[in-house]
Amino acid sequence: MEFTQSVILYPSLGMGHLIPTLELAKLFIDQGFSVTIVVIDSPPSDTSSTMDSFISRASSAYPSLSFHRLPKVAPPASKLPMVFLSETVRLANASLLDFLSSKKSTSDIRAVVLDMFCSASLDIVEELHLPSYFFFSSSASALAACLFFPTLQSQLAGSFRDLGSSPVHFPGLPPIPASDLPADVQVRGESYDAALAHFVRLPRADGIMINTFESLEKRAVRALVDGVCVPGRATPPVYCIGPLIADGSDGGERHECLAWLDAQPERSVVFLCFGSMGSFSTEQLKETAGGLERSGQRFLWVVRSPPSDPAYPFGPRAETELEALLPEGFLERTRERGMVLESWAPQAAVLAHRSVGGFVSHCGWNSTLEAVCSGVPMLGWPLYAEQRMNRVSLVEEAKVAVAMEGCHNGLVSADEVETKIRRLMESRALGERMAATKERAVAARTEGGESTLALLELVRALRKATPGTGA
Ligand code: UDP
Repeated sequence: MEFTQSVILYPSLGMGHLIPTLELAKLFIDQGFSVTIVVIDSPPSDTSSTMDSFISRASSAYPSLSFHRLPKVAPPASKLPMVFLSETVRLANASLLDFLSSKKSTSDIRAVVLDMFCSASLDIVEELHLPSYFFFSSSASALAACLFFPTLQSQLAGSFRDLGSSPVHFPGLPPIPASDLPADVQVRGESYDAALAHFVRLPRADGIMINTFESLEKRAVRALVDGVCVPGRATPPVYCIGPLIADGSDGGERHECLAWLDAQPERSVVFLCFGSMGSFSTEQLKETAGGLERSGQRFLWVVRSPPSDPAYPFGPRAETELEALLPEGFLERTRERGMVLESWAPQAAVLAHRSVGGFVSHCGWNSTLEAVCSGVPMLGWPLYAEQRMNRVSLVEEAKVAVAMEGCHNGLVSADEVETKIRRLMESRALGERMAATKERAVAARTEGGESTLALLELVRALRKATPGTGA
């Protein structure tokens, strides 16, 4: 009996990973594969209901797509995000093995595609002799850095933190101040070891898909293709198949903020949103509100209450109470020109709206791609993970963003917020460069475009693989 060729996708925790994974699934479905997305039941968070409705809408929209939810695992004891993530995946491995083994007996699995943070499952995929791929949901620059990192650390006696803001050199990247490297790799310890374990597993895969397009990151892609990121070892083929972003039409009811945007002049609104987990102290929220108010700009701002325990970013949060979090009278005074949303906005649709002219962002990669695809210039205010590195590339290489200063050490002042928001909304050069970048992004995924060609090359490799051998 002939089985349908199928692809299994295994994203890491959180909407930031699930959203591009669905877009990746659609590409494979269009190429005739059936797709299963394996989901780890997330720890409690204010976005778990968002995730449930996302899954139920996606399952009903695509008959060739199914979701498999692994049974809940006991929450790991560590509060360090990187350790927590890795440990959660490790604990889910037994259920993943059961699932993949039974799936293998009923379908022709052409690829198991792991998120980098699920690399602790690579052994299982190899054990079952299935073709293993990574879907790297950040930039080619970040991938080049991750691959080169083990080499770099072998040349460094102490910690990166000791280097202060001295530049670190990765193949294909502009010099990155050591202080802009992700917090997890700044000092040696548990998080560092967990991150490094992911980086060293990456080259073992049969291929790596990246959510980017080649012309956005020419230098980094060249370094990957030339194999200089992993000295002494072959780099697996890389496939730049992006930008994969949600198209903003999630099938649900139209959000009230979009109706509000309809009533605003073209490109007049600054949108502030900091990813699926970003949040600020009450003190920082008040300072931001002050700067925003004084900037005189129209705004749409997503505000989320900080986690109850600041050391535990994935942990529970109190209900967002805007009146308590924002300065007294702020909502009333800005009612005519601003809108504040609690916790979540339909971001892709917001960025695609003609009224939005600037985006204050944490520089998460999905947010960055969504801004690029809508041609909306950015004001970079990174918070965690590789976001500070992304900002360096956006500000210094692509020149489509300005930088919020002072966000690494304590509070960003209302003055800085006011000045930079004005610059963001008033700079013509920034807007023009972003508009040109958008055109290249759109071209990449049209017929014959660079990302479409990379996808077809990948599909050829998957179809050619001998089933059951992992080759
Ligand atoms: N997002 C959204 N509404 C929000 C916050 C986030 O739709 O209020 C979406 C956003 O459009 C993006 C994803 O969540 O697709 C966030 O991913 P990103 O990589 O930017 O950041 P992360 O959440 O991983 O830090």
